[in-house]
Amino acid sequence: MRAPRLLIVGPQGSGKGTQGVLVAEAYGIPAISTGDVFRSAVAAGSELGRQVQAIISAGDLVPDELTSAVVRDRLSQADAAGGFLLDGYPRNLAQVRDLDAFLEARGGELDAVIELNVPRDESIARLSQRAQEQGRTDDTEEVIANRLAIYERETAPILDVYRDRGIVDDIDGTGSLDDITDRVIAALEARGLIRSAAA
Ligand code: AMP
Repeated sequence: MRAPRLLIVGPQGSGKGTQGVLVAEAYGIPAISTGDVFRSAVAAGSELGRQVQAIISAGDLVPDELTSAVVRDRLSQADAAGGFLLDGYPRNLAQVRDLDAFLEARGGELDAVIELNVPRDESIARLSQRAQEQGRTDDTEEVIANRLAIYERETAPILDVYRDRGIVDDIDGTGSLDDITDRVIAALEARGLIRSAAA
């Protein structure tokens, strides 16, 4: 079967970045994280990096037009032609519409949306651990609060849209990394999204 087109959604500290990479590896598809793309651009000091640096440090959202253009570029690369796993995009309803339009023009749509659920106190504990380990500028207490508020206000509603389409899999994001990955893959396989032997 063809490779799946997936999206992973979860609040900050839910482990969606880590699980996104593991699930993408299992299916042999690229994991595309807009947060990673922006952080790399900042680190490289590119034009894009200069445009987004202050926005990311404040925990605000990069403008939709810029974000959607970055994703369209990335999804147009050869390795994403079959399937991909998006992490962190779309993040609001306008971006859902942008992605729909882009995929529709290519004759496709998302196959499944993985919603990773972790209790609030556990995700905050994971974030403060990451703050110590990685020193991200957006992992300070104040910025985390802003990012979580934006998640509740702008990102959680996109799940209702995808739920109406019947493509959301609610996954318990607690426990060992392997257990969580197994749960995600079991849910995707139940949808008929079977890993190929080569992946
Ligand atoms: P993340 O690693 O997914 O938490 O993303 C880190 C930061 O990158 C976010 O707090 C935003 O500033 C920016 N960002 C990532 N994805 C998006 C998106 N889809 N739309 C707007 N801003 C984004």
